[in-house]
Amino acid sequence: MKFWSQFFIPTLKESPADAEIASHKLLVRAGLVRKLGAGLYTYMPLGQRVMRKLTEICREEMDRAGAIELWMPHLHPAESWEAGPRWAAGREIMFRVDSAGEGAAAKLPREPELVLGPTHEEIITPLVKNEITSYRDLPKNFYQIATKFRNEIRPRYGLMRGREFVMMDAYSFDADEAGAAQSYEAMKRGYEAFFKRIGMHAIAVEADTGVMGGSFSHEFMAPAEIGDDDIIYCEASGYAANREKATSALVPADLADAAPVGEVEKFATPGATTIAALEAAPYGVPASAQFKTLVYVGDGQPFVVILRGCDELEEAKLGALGFTLVRPATPEEIEPIMGAKPGSLGAVKGRIQKPDALAGIFADHAIRLIGNGTTGANEDGYHLRNVNVGRDLAVTRFGDFRRVHEGEPCPRSGQPLKSRRGIEVGHIFVLGTKYSERFGAVYTDAEKQTHPMVMGSYGIGIGRVMQALIEQDHDGDGIRWPWAVAPFQVLVTLLDPKDEAAAAVAKTLAEAAERAGADVLVDDRDERPGVKFKDADLIGIPLRLTVGGRGLKEGVVELKWRSAVANQGSTEARKIPLAE
Ligand code: ATP
Ligand code: MG
Ligand code: MG
Ligand code: MG
Repeated sequence: MKFWSQFFIPTLKESPADAEIASHKLLVRAGLVRKLGAGLYTYMPLGQRVMRKLTEICREEMDRAGAIELWMPHLHPAESWEAGPRWAAGREIMFRVDSAGEGAAAKLPREPELVLGPTHEEIITPLVKNEITSYRDLPKNFYQIATKFRNEIRPRYGLMRGREFVMMDAYSFDADEAGAAQSYEAMKRGYEAFFKRIGMHAIAVEADTGVMGGSFSHEFMAPAEIGDDDIIYCEASGYAANREKATSALVPADLADAAPVGEVEKFATPGATTIAALEAAPYGVPASAQFKTLVYVGDGQPFVVILRGCDELEEAKLGALGFTLVRPATPEEIEPIMGAKPGSLGAVKGRIQKPDALAGIFADHAIRLIGNGTTGANEDGYHLRNVNVGRDLAVTRFGDFRRVHEGEPCPRSGQPLKSRRGIEVGHIFVLGTKYSERFGAVYTDAEKQTHPMVMGSYGIGIGRVMQALIEQDHDGDGIRWPWAVAPFQVLVTLLDPKDEAAAAVAKTLAEAAERAGADVLVDDRDERPGVKFKDADLIGIPLRLTVGGRGLKEGVVELKWRSAVANQGSTEARKIPLAE
């Protein structure tokens, strides 16, 4: 039990000037957070209580899903990242640490460069490589709930897009793809259980399915008007995808479900007849999950869209393949076409035969490969044979890769697609062997054969979830916390703290509520009832018991739910005889 007068809840009447959305305003006004700098926040005592509850529920559900908790450093040797597959893209969003000290420390040998960890694939994969060598130790899934650092271009909306934030991140290691799919499903169920328990409405939407040839990635979206993401969905078919990925909504159903196409074959004669395929790897999203094959053939001249962040090496490779690099695409151009964000990495990975023929036929078109074969074809040094354009290649006019709009027919049901905004609160995907191959995370099977482990990667933004809960459920007066994560569940409002009889009743009630398992806050401040009620509504404690005044003389206390949902549709105050 806590007493308001001794606790610390600095509520405010005014919203901070930089708060554009309701949840950001309420976070600050209810005294849950305070800003230090752009994208940097202190969790105040009330906010920290919510974070603790979210963290604990998340931990329970991850444990139940079979994941094992550990803790990794947040300061990473840059070497760990250089050894991985996305250093170029990673640098753009990583904070880099100058380890050269002042004074005496400056005389020490300069340390290798350090970076602040934006995610941990590059850390956990080498760890697992060193610790796990046999199939007997697989599968394993490791998670942590810890701080992440990302130098976001536009930190905004309070905790929604911070530069330092708390994430649950998990990494699964399996012997084969079937195992990885099982780990993925277990985590998906774990996520669903987590979001249900914390009282959040979050839906799993497909992220990057068409090209991967299956549902290997889902984002968990909290529907909300102010969300950064657009969900394209169809109630009739159950289709739901992030609009960034919803170019797949344009893929005809028969192509979307098509078997692998062509024959993947080792590339024998580099140079002559190739088209480069591009891989879009928005930072933090593993490239294998984000795979896109896209070539823009314009003016009869293959013109490859190079994403920002593509390093010189890749450009050189392109040149060797006979491509004219017209110019790097601007972020504005990339976004609608590639579903990629500024800061993405472009890499030449695959090659398709007969570019000249394609160029002739498909000037001004974007070409997109559908089917599992495309994944294989994007291994370095491989290409696809016997691909039949039209049958195996979905060819879409350049312009059609722009955002899909609601009202267009769902490729599965034919019903008009709908759209709504959402906040990405969690993400799960199968990574495949991209990282395990790069870092040599292999195991030996029962026959002493060596294989790369098949990985999955998972994230939940805990702070973003806290704010998304507020965004989803608030009213003009303040927050309405769901019971499970409310900083306190019961608020006992003492109308007059000097009234000793009332204080005694308040204490008895608070103790009873505690015995029943609730976290209780007693508002014992020397304030007018109006101020107390306003603050109570603002901080959003689910159940309020008001003690004192005329009611107490009549032998009743007032009981009021903050949210109608919690009380059969009613927030009417009820008078409850003390004896009850
Ligand atoms: P976004 O698309 O919003 O930039 P992301 O796809 O880059 O997010 P992931 O790498 O998938 O994020 O990280 C997993 C989860 O971490 C996200 O689903 C989100 O809930 C949370 N998260 C990511 N970036 C931030 C941030 N800057 N501030 C707070 N939470 C974040
Ligand atoms: Mg991001
Ligand atoms: Mg995202
Ligand atoms: Mg994501």
